[in-house]
Amino acid sequence: MAKEKEEGSLKQLVALSKRRGFVFPGSEIYGGLSNTFDYGPYGIEILNNLKKLWWEYFVHRRDDVVGLDSSILLNPMVWEASGHVSNFSDPLMDCKSCKTRIRVDHFLEERMTPEEFEKYKNIGLKDPTEFTFLIKTGKYPCPNCGNVGTFTEARNFNLMFKTSHGASEEGSLDIYLRPETAQGIFLNFKNIYTACRKKIPFGVAQIGKSFRNEIMARQFVFRTREFEQMEMEFFCEPGSQKEWFIFWVDYCMNWLTDTLGLKKENLRIREHAKEELSFYSEATSDIEYKFPWGWGELWGVASRTDYDMSQHEKFSGQDLKYHDQVKGTKYIPYVIEPALGLNRLFLAVMSDAYEEEKLDDGETRTVLHLAPRISPVKIAVFPLMKKDGLDMKAKVIFESLRFHWYSDYDDSAAIGKRYRRHDELGTPFCVTVDYDTLKDNTVTVRERDKMTQIRMEIGELKPFFLDKM
Ligand code: ATP
Repeated sequence: MAKEKEEGSLKQLVALSKRRGFVFPGSEIYGGLSNTFDYGPYGIEILNNLKKLWWEYFVHRRDDVVGLDSSILLNPMVWEASGHVSNFSDPLMDCKSCKTRIRVDHFLEERMTPEEFEKYKNIGLKDPTEFTFLIKTGKYPCPNCGNVGTFTEARNFNLMFKTSHGASEEGSLDIYLRPETAQGIFLNFKNIYTACRKKIPFGVAQIGKSFRNEIMARQFVFRTREFEQMEMEFFCEPGSQKEWFIFWVDYCMNWLTDTLGLKKENLRIREHAKEELSFYSEATSDIEYKFPWGWGELWGVASRTDYDMSQHEKFSGQDLKYHDQVKGTKYIPYVIEPALGLNRLFLAVMSDAYEEEKLDDGETRTVLHLAPRISPVKIAVFPLMKKDGLDMKAKVIFESLRFHWYSDYDDSAAIGKRYRRHDELGTPFCVTVDYDTLKDNTVTVRERDKMTQIRMEIGELKPFFLDKM
């Protein structure tokens, strides 16, 4: 029963997203393309606000971080060097009967006790035949057709999307869409430190699209094949990485709670056990969020040692070492990487803010308690009636406010309906112009969360909103 309720709340979020223009299913008029989504007029506002807030916090507010926008398409040698060609895979099996593709580790996790799964997980991720053994002994039915004993052997499936670079078939080069933004940063390490005179320790931040051919993309925008990442590679002196790792985990967590206002009880840090770490990683901590179906990774912070830079030095034959002019030393820097998915963050922000609130009159209102800096629309301006000059007056107020804050003017339907619509959009303030406005130049300002209404002069609106947003 409890599970049904949890899944219900994801359903409600998906429904609200479509109803109010946050997120639409992709290619809908052609029957869709599974697991693709388009962000509508209000969804894109939220994404842009999140990107802006992240950039301010990670780049503009720091002397030791700069930005970058590197290509999605990279020389294929990059992925040989980074280990993605040989290692970037998930275990997969098919049902021979109905051809359903299944990601084996997720399939087992949902069917075994947590203790059992923990015991076998890391062995199976290194060698998928171990998973085949578990599947056979578990006698699990196919989740689609229900047949038992019809699964193929488990095998590794590389998640990178292949494409060709170049116009002619013969001359074209097989390349990949990037599965992470990080490698573009490593390739530009030397360019940045020489062109921008950066001294270690320093970081390079980047926001951009990544692509992974996920075996089972699911849970709305949580796991998709095309998604956006906000990543930072922080280059530091060997020996200082532990300290910086602790610093960045803390820094990321503070941004989620203090700037975005996510509820602390919905966030936790999960340190990876030794056996779980990638072979090049010294330490990894995931910041997890309590999504409607349970805890899931939101932000991965990894201490990646000097692995990536050493590999690129080896494969490119270039000297990529950092020259410390003051100490007279030369070394490959160590790297701390906080990697956040923008779309997962969007989902976390939306589910944190979503509430169906029972009102005293027995009605239920759906409201998004978004922090004003994340809300797509900051202020909505309504005339009580679309006549007697109220609409003209409201439009003048709207024009003066939209100059500073993204605002909406709405004169359709009853005033209560307009409030409800903006509650669902997460608009923190509504300004209503009524007949008294024409007499004394005052308006009603209604606040979203407590629904309190205060009367103020039009001239007081700007300082009031400046204080609140
Ligand atoms: P997962 O274990 O969930 O597949 P991951 O550990 O492979 O994630 P990373 O490679 O660390 O993820 O990527 C950094 C961040 O990018 C993740 O924390 C997540 O927020 C986001 N991310 C990764 N894969 C996807 C995806 N398929 N769809 C949406 N966001 C993703």
